[in-house]
Amino acid sequence: MSVNTIRKAKKLVESGGVQQIDEDLFQIKSSSDPNKSYFVTSQTCECLGFKNFYKFHHGKGLKANCSHLEAIRLFKKEH
Ligand SMILES: [Zn+2]
Repeated sequence: MSVNTIRKAKKLVESGGVQQIDEDLFQIKSSSDPNKSYFVTSQTCECLGFKNFYKFHHGKGLKANCSHLEAIRLFKKEH
């Protein structure tokens, strides 16, 4: 995972961009467009980066990641 992803994730958590909706459902503000937000669980994300990951790495047994999934991990650690 890239340093950039972790830095972005930290910023999302610190700026209050992560909101827990249900036990495993979160709403995370888009870092590029403040009017946009993504619904994220601990396994999936709606964002383009996550979708593209599976498009490009399909069948390689890799687990997709994005700054939003990482933000949830950080968020859970802090709460
Ligand atoms: Zn994402």
